[in-house]
Amino acid sequence: MDNLQYLEERKHIIDVARELNEIGLLVRTWGNISCRTDSDHFLITPSGIRYEDLTPEMIVLVDLKDMSYEGEYKPSSEKLVHAAAYNARKHCDFIIHTHQVFASCAGTLGIKKVFSYFEDEDVTIPVASYALPGTQQLADNVKRTLNKFKSSNGIIMSNHGTLCLGETSNEALFEAEMMETACRNFLEDVCKMDMPHGVEEMFSSHLENGDIIYDVHDTPERVKTIHKQVYSKRSDVKYIIHNKSEAVMMVSRRANHMKPLLDDFAQLIGVSVKIPSNEGEIYHNIKKKVNVLFVPNDGAYCFGPTKDDAEAVAMVLDKGCIAYIAAMRNGEGHYLSLFDCIKMNRNYRKNYSKLADTVAHEEKDD
Ligand SMILES: [Zn+2]
Repeated sequence: MDNLQYLEERKHIIDVARELNEIGLLVRTWGNISCRTDSDHFLITPSGIRYEDLTPEMIVLVDLKDMSYEGEYKPSSEKLVHAAAYNARKHCDFIIHTHQVFASCAGTLGIKKVFSYFEDEDVTIPVASYALPGTQQLADNVKRTLNKFKSSNGIIMSNHGTLCLGETSNEALFEAEMMETACRNFLEDVCKMDMPHGVEEMFSSHLENGDIIYDVHDTPERVKTIHKQVYSKRSDVKYIIHNKSEAVMMVSRRANHMKPLLDDFAQLIGVSVKIPSNEGEIYHNIKKKVNVLFVPNDGAYCFGPTKDDAEAVAMVLDKGCIAYIAAMRNGEGHYLSLFDCIKMNRNYRKNYSKLADTVAHEEKDD
């Protein structure tokens, strides 16, 4: 391993990945990080490996001109976006792509720029138009935005996440943190919302040898019936997390239908989620390709084949609900098309089941 090319740079990327995870800007391990090594190459995090499992040889060296790479690890599926950004900002040598909560949510409102503030400074954050993740179109949209806003090294990718550039990793990290605070301020001012992001667990359960094990000893019978119905209708589900976070609770009280505003919602949760208006309707909403079940005025149950998956669904649902409430209060939002949602949902299931078969348990990067 000592003769690995760019060993120090590889280690540094891993350190930054872990730091981002610690400060909570990744929403689990979705996102990717890269570093320019010379005028023709950059190093980037691989596709589908958890950050805690990263080792230097897994970081992929990619040719900036033709995207070719060597070795057994595949570069992140957002390599085209990174390449476009290196071409647009010759002086930037470090890039972080995150799915951070408040910037991603501000990027679903259909606006071209987020005007806000950070500490005492005014901040303008450009928003690149939407395109499906991993596509050349998305890379072109990012390039156009970076060329148009020469002084911005942090941009939002509509309905998806952020792209933070810097001459150094510290500058890129600063962009990510600055954008998150500025976007949180924006949502507070414009959408009148100050909502924490997270999961408030209430009545969760999992299956063990066919038996349902409830996390809370005195789980009410009414709730147990919901768990039993989910496990009987969805043989793929082994974990259920009951999420009663502020945003999820608000949606379970006031909304009747959620369409995806964010890519990860379409991928992990489903393309269309109904919120029942009375108890009698609950069970009709246990669907094959929808990984949550809302209960009126009682939050939502989030499903997965593993605890990790159910937790991911619960986090992404909370972010999706914050975006939904922001769009409602803003008076408009840019919703993803049904066609794009179906495509992403299908791809994600396909890639995911392939990964789950071959590797112990890993997640797709973006
Ligand atoms: Zn992404």
